[in-house]
Amino acid sequence: MASIAKFTGTKNKDGKYTVTLIEGDGIGIEISKSVKDIYAAAEVPIKWEPVDVTPQLVNGKTTLPQEAVDSVFKNKVALKGPLATPIGKGHVSMNLTLRRTFNLFANVRPCKSIVGYKTPYDNVDTVLIRENTEGEYSGIEHTIVPGVVQSIKLITKPASERVIKYAFEYARHVNKPKILVVHKASIMKLSDGLFVNTAKEVAKDYPDVSLDFELIDNTCLKLTTDPTQYSDVVMVMPNLYGDIMSDLSSGLIGGLGLTPSGNMGNNVSIFEAVHGSAPDIAGMNLANPTALLLSSVMMLRHMSLDFYADKIEKAILQTIASGPENRTKDLRGQAGTDEFTKKIIANL
Ligand code: NAD
Repeated sequence: MASIAKFTGTKNKDGKYTVTLIEGDGIGIEISKSVKDIYAAAEVPIKWEPVDVTPQLVNGKTTLPQEAVDSVFKNKVALKGPLATPIGKGHVSMNLTLRRTFNLFANVRPCKSIVGYKTPYDNVDTVLIRENTEGEYSGIEHTIVPGVVQSIKLITKPASERVIKYAFEYARHVNKPKILVVHKASIMKLSDGLFVNTAKEVAKDYPDVSLDFELIDNTCLKLTTDPTQYSDVVMVMPNLYGDIMSDLSSGLIGGLGLTPSGNMGNNVSIFEAVHGSAPDIAGMNLANPTALLLSSVMMLRHMSLDFYADKIEKAILQTIASGPENRTKDLRGQAGTDEFTKKIIANL
C-alpha cells in the first residue's frame, strides 16, 4: 500500500541535512539566493549541495549530468529553481527528465489565499495533485506526412493507480474528506476513462474518503466563480490538466509568484515553484521569491523540520501583509527581490 512518501534522509555528523540545490535559469538565480540568505538567517540545519543540470548529450539522448543524479539519490531531497525549455525545437525538457529520472509520480500543488493581500477571491484553499509522468507529456510525437503530426496522450493503469492512491493518502494526511477526479472522459473515453475507472477501483480501499468526478471545463468555471467550493477536496487529474489548472488557481490568489509545489516519488522528492524562469524579468531584481520559498517550506515539513517551516512561513506572510512598500511588483508592491528578502529576514 502506497503511503504518503516519507523522507528517509539522515543527518550529517554536524547535525545538518544535505539538500541538493538546483538553482535553475532566469530568475532561478535570484530567488535561490533569497532562499539561501533566509535559511542562513533562520539557522535552518541544512547544508546546500548545488548541482549543475546542464543537458548532456549521451548517445544521441539528452540526460542529466551524473553528478546531479548521484546527489539527488544520495540526499533524497532537492530544491529546484525553474529550468527553461526551448519551444518547438531543441533538447527535451530537463524538468520532465528530472521527474522521469527520479520517478516523481505525484505533483502536489496547494494554493492558499495570502491573508493581507487582497484579491477578488478570499479564502482560496485548494490542492491539486497532478499525474507527473505521462499523459500528453510522454514525449511521443511524430510526423505522419508533411503537415500532419501526431502527439500521443499515454495513460496507463499503474501510473494512474499510484497517483490516485497518493491523492487518497494525502487527503487522509491533511484531513480533507473528498477526492475529486478532474477529467474529460466524455471525449477521451479510453484514456481519461481509464483514469476515472482506476479511481473507482482505488476508492474501495478508502471507505473513509468520498469520491466524486467533474469535467475539467466545469471545474474551471466553478473554480473561478467560487473557489471555496473546493476547500474540502483534494483534486487529482492527468498531467496536462494539472499543469493548466494550477496556473488558473495561482491567478485566484495573486499570481505565479505565490504558488509552491512538491514532486513526490517513493524514494526522492523535489520541491519547486509552479512558475517558470520568467526571462522577461530575469536579472532585474523584480522576481518574487515567495513561490520557491513556500516550496522550501513544503520541503521542510516533508523533512519533519516543522519548527523552521513555521518560522519562515510566518515571516513571509507577515512581510507580504505589511504593505506595498514591502511587496514585490507582481503583488502591486515597490520592493525588489533583495529588499523583500531583507524584510523577511527582519521578520524571522
Ligand atoms: P513563467 O512562469 O516563467 O512566466 C509567466 C509570467 O509570470 C511572466 O510574465 C513572468 O514574469 C511572471 N512570473 C513568473 N514567476 C514570477 C515570479 N516569481 N515573480 C514575478 N513574476 C513572475 O512562464 P513562461 O514565460 O511561459 O516560461 C518561461 C520559461 O520557463 C520557459 O522556458 C518554460 O519552459 C519554463 N518553465 C519552467 C518550469 C519549471 O521549471 N518547472 C515551469 C514553467 C515554465
